[in-house]
Amino acid sequence: MGELCITYMPQIYVDESKGKRLFLQFNRCGGCGYCIEVCPKNTLEKSSTINERLLNPPTVRSGAECSLCRLCEYICPDFSIYVVDIDKAKEVKEEKKEGEWHL
Ligand code: SF4
Ligand code: SF4
Repeated sequence: MGELCITYMPQIYVDESKGKRLFLQFNRCGGCGYCIEVCPKNTLEKSSTINERLLNPPTVRSGAECSLCRLCEYICPDFSIYVVDIDKAKEVKEEKKEGEWHL
């Protein structure tokens, strides 16, 4: 338990050289910790901040590296943590701007 997080930045890691980013939907997370256990790089740890579900989502350890391998994405039962291709994210944003694509 800890301080309740009201606002958050979904992007928690970026590697421009690989063209990928790691995102976390903080308030969707169920706090199971599977992503922390499965990570081969020991990148993640439990945050001391609680989300709207009063659970502790993961956060990137200080100074840790992420290989953007997607294992955390594959194991997450709540679809809360995932890797996004930067070009793909731009593409979707542009399509949405033109009104040709909607969520
Ligand atoms: S993408 Fe891979 S290295 Fe990065 S946090 Fe997830 S499991 Fe760990
Ligand atoms: S696996 Fe998903 S639901 Fe579980 S702690 Fe990680 S991000 Fe949250």
